[in-house]
Amino acid sequence: MRIVVADIGGTTIKVAIVNEEGVLTQYTEYDTESKKGGAYLVQKLMNILKGFLPFEAIGISTAGQVDTKTGTITYANDNIPAYTGMKLQELLEKAFHVPVKVENDVNAAALGELHYGAGKEQTAFLCLTYGTGVGGAIIMDSKLYRGANGVAAEFGHIIVHPNGRNCNCGLKGCYEQYASTTALIRQVQAVDSSYQNGRQVFEALKQENKKIESVLSQWMDEIVLGLVSLIHCFNPSVIIVGGGVMEQSQVVEEITRRVRKQVIHSFSNVTIKQAVLGNRAGLLGAASLHIRHDG
Ligand SMILES: [Zn+2]
Repeated sequence: MRIVVADIGGTTIKVAIVNEEGVLTQYTEYDTESKKGGAYLVQKLMNILKGFLPFEAIGISTAGQVDTKTGTITYANDNIPAYTGMKLQELLEKAFHVPVKVENDVNAAALGELHYGAGKEQTAFLCLTYGTGVGGAIIMDSKLYRGANGVAAEFGHIIVHPNGRNCNCGLKGCYEQYASTTALIRQVQAVDSSYQNGRQVFEALKQENKKIESVLSQWMDEIVLGLVSLIHCFNPSVIIVGGGVMEQSQVVEEITRRVRKQVIHSFSNVTIKQAVLGNRAGLLGAASLHIRHDG
């Protein structure tokens, strides 16, 4: 089976062909040109997909909230104007006459890790991605748990500090305002405004910069605060953490150490693993929507 898959983000559209064994080929990236809006984006996607013909199915991983029954974008923020309401599945099925499945990008990445990555052989785990915000996905009984309206696992908006920092969701004190990479950089900049990104922060640590070490340690405490509650709620065997900062294995090791110290004893066998598929996770997850996974 030849499945064409696309991962639509605010900056790039990644496209590839995946076969039934989950082998990915013809990987190509395109500029999303997101500011031109949803209609332009869908047209652009169709033109790109034509270049990958022939194929027997289309799998889409996309930014925004998705009604997976109809493959419609139920909500997308202003990064892609007028993307909300786009009937992606219907439009693509009409154009290509093959089955189309659409899934939210964080969920798709979790499915990718489940079938082909760090979640293989695990039946109950959580995925958290730390970047501009904090994204989440829940795998229960080897399946994605989507919730009543398909928007479960918004871990970034768990309130961890009552009356805390303002969040763009309208609430105060949300987890992502303290535990995201953006939050880390903001706190580092309060100490030294010359820092612009995570890479510079980890360079400073190599030079044993005590001030930066202290900010990083407080940030890890914030990460752990959220994880401990999630572990008590879900009792996962594994938590898979992704995003650029989690490529630093010393960060993941330290978070694991602190989590194990804080959780109730009966939860202490939980492990924390780095996501392994990187930018291929969403594409493989989108393909997996068309592939039967027995056992
Ligand atoms: Zn929030």
